[in-house]
Amino acid sequence: MLSDGTRSLALFDALPDLLSLARRRSVDDVYDLQEKLRREYRSRGDAIKWSMPLRHFRQCEVCGAKGAEIKYELENSKAREGAAAVQLYESEVHRVREHGEDFSSPVMHFFDELVRTSADLLRTR
Ligand SMILES: [Zn+2]
Repeated sequence: MLSDGTRSLALFDALPDLLSLARRRSVDDVYDLQEKLRREYRSRGDAIKWSMPLRHFRQCEVCGAKGAEIKYELENSKAREGAAAVQLYESEVHRVREHGEDFSSPVMHFFDELVRTSADLLRTR
């Protein structure tokens, strides 16, 4: 039995990463391509992870680690109202991954819905 944080992190990692997909297909216009992929995945009803690296760096309050800050938008068009999209930052992902914290409750709610609507995301890994 996975803890909530571990299970949610596995789901976060399993979501199709549109920016990585875009970078594999193109050397320029990756952000335009990411938007195009988002529209494609949306129209098929597939859940996604959209990413935008930010200009400023993050520093972890717990361990002091510095790194690139990234904004994520997670979407699941099959989710019930209120859990179809959520935003979070790499700072939060770092605290879950490295320090065993849980995601914030809106993010946990998103993942609960993701399990309900797309249970195969975890099984295929
Ligand atoms: Zn840390």
